[in-house]
Amino acid sequence: MRSLDELRASLDSLDHDALRRRRRSNALSCAPQATVDGRALIAFCSNDYLGLASAPALAVALAEGATRWGAGAGASHLVSGHYDVHDELEAALARFVGCARALYFSTGYMANSGILPALAGRGDAIFADRLNHASLVDGMLLSRASVHRYPHADAAALDRLLGASTARRKLIVTDAVFSMDGDLAPLAELLDLAVRHDAWLVVDDAHGFGVLGPQGRGAVAEAGLGAHPEAWRIVLVGTLGKAAGIAGAFVAGHADVVEWLLQKTRTYVYTTAAPPALAHALLESLRLIESGDARRQRLQALIDCFRAHARLQRWRLLPSRTAIQPVLIGANAETLAVAKALLEAGLWVPAIRPPTVPAGSARLRVSLTAAHDEADVIRLAQTLMHLEQIGGGR
Ligand SMILES: *Cc1c(COP(=O)(O)O)cnc(C)c1O
Repeated sequence: MRSLDELRASLDSLDHDALRRRRRSNALSCAPQATVDGRALIAFCSNDYLGLASAPALAVALAEGATRWGAGAGASHLVSGHYDVHDELEAALARFVGCARALYFSTGYMANSGILPALAGRGDAIFADRLNHASLVDGMLLSRASVHRYPHADAAALDRLLGASTARRKLIVTDAVFSMDGDLAPLAELLDLAVRHDAWLVVDDAHGFGVLGPQGRGAVAEAGLGAHPEAWRIVLVGTLGKAAGIAGAFVAGHADVVEWLLQKTRTYVYTTAAPPALAHALLESLRLIESGDARRQRLQALIDCFRAHARLQRWRLLPSRTAIQPVLIGANAETLAVAKALLEAGLWVPAIRPPTVPAGSARLRVSLTAAHDEADVIRLAQTLMHLEQIGGGR
């Protein structure tokens, strides 16, 4: 019984530190309108930035895909689970982001945790932004390369670390849009450093793909790096469960890099391929993204609206121009209490606590989508200001 008692004590200490996480079950589909425990809420939680997750055209494409290819792939890609439609999707993704080739993965977590060990190993060095996503952190640890974490978005500190390294192979690894802060990595500076120090640059564009850049081609396109003479150094990860509204991820880059990843990425090789029906639906999603300027403009207008209306004093809006608009509060318990007060007002905003963010920087993570109404965004901003004024969760 001792092991079980220990586990229970650890769970109790999560409660004590206001760190216990709870799932809320939504009775509706992914949209700003949610129903939780019978209560109607407006959700500011999803990464469905363009409002595609419940778009009728994608549901139709998914059903069409299932009719044509059935439910499952039946095997891993390198055995017999790879289909024409997977090739078609990879070609479309590569063309869309302006790379020679792309490889389709089941999830972004699998892509990130798999490609770093395929690109670096013992004797190599990985240089990672402190605020990188957990999937990159795990991939970096699995690689057995030596790990150097640099202060957030600090190119000068990274330059010094790279200069001091004698590693054979060097990898710079960064989120493009940081998932809990909403700000952008200095991609042009990072590519310059990669060139100067002969390093690879792995960019995880989970939150930029579909949203940033011309036609939503992502943060690398927005930074104008696609045509850089040494763009071959960039290994680009995009995920397909956020703006693309479905599930999955891809890694794109130089054809030889992608071929190497296909051979060596364990999270690609040793897992059942994602259902081909998903790939069919993702092709439709890609068309909606490419022609989605109206959705992107709407999202941008809502971001501007939220920032204009949320004039906070003790709490702080982080400097983000993306759909991720965190409200920094600080203490875990206060953040939880504010999230609870918002819920009581019918507004669903997730409280993000350590270890997802550094200790003392608990926050509400507001995420906006093209499917929100301006009136709801304004109501959220006003409710936040009111809660701050009356002492919020204190
Ligand atoms: C969501 C996310 C991932 C993981 O992608 P999934 O497809 O959800 O597994 C990777 N990186 C970042 C920055 C993310 O926000």
